[in-house]
Amino acid sequence: MSFIKFLGTAGARFVVMKQLRASGGVWLSVGKTNLYIDPGPGALVRCLSSKPRLEPTMLDGILLTHKHLDHSSDVNVMIEAMTDGGFKKKGILFAPLDAIEGDPVVLKYVRNYVEEVEVLKENTEYRIGDIPFSTSKKHSHRVETYGLNFKISPHTLSWITDTRFFSELSTLYRGEILVIHVVRLKPIGDEPIDHLSIEDVKVIVKKAKPKLTLLTHFGMTMIKAKPWVVAAELEKELGLRVIAASDGMKIDLEEV
Ligand SMILES: [Zn+2]
Repeated sequence: MSFIKFLGTAGARFVVMKQLRASGGVWLSVGKTNLYIDPGPGALVRCLSSKPRLEPTMLDGILLTHKHLDHSSDVNVMIEAMTDGGFKKKGILFAPLDAIEGDPVVLKYVRNYVEEVEVLKENTEYRIGDIPFSTSKKHSHRVETYGLNFKISPHTLSWITDTRFFSELSTLYRGEILVIHVVRLKPIGDEPIDHLSIEDVKVIVKKAKPKLTLLTHFGMTMIKAKPWVVAAELEKELGLRVIAASDGMKIDLEEV
């Protein structure tokens, strides 16, 4: 069974710091391959307390869309867990260059535990087992950040991680399932910020017309507005399926 499991739906500092939502990231399972995306604070704890329990030793790889803490703080411990405490060298780590150089978030000694470190670059194709994917254009975000397009069956999947809005977003991500990180309900005045709002989501979804849109990575204004209410309103307005992710939510890819 292929699935996406949300081990966290928090975005932005307050929701993460107060743990108003969990911030563990996402487990993607396709065919025989398991890939962990953005292991933020609590990733390991959320895996082990998940029902049914998700066993990190089953992972084939870990991917960081960027190095911000809410996407990467548990990357070292997750690598250690994936590799059985570092005793069983295995797996691939995918990360942008600035996550492993300069002021890195992945410790050097931990990198020896994985079989391969693949540096994410713009518009490049990658594969891990049953999961072929590509990066698109570099996002407009303070650190090096890449969204993803997974060419998987039974449904293609696109992932718009943190970014400031730019008009090509709706053409770059054409997966049948579209995950969007939406921190804000409304934009802050005229000054664009490094995150998407629901207004931006409307523009993107109207054009991209995915079969299913999954909203996640909520900031305070989204939490206050109740993400499931916002999703229901969007669904009505756009005439397309929109679901607000919740902590522990599992989407069976065969059933979409
Ligand atoms: Zn970020």
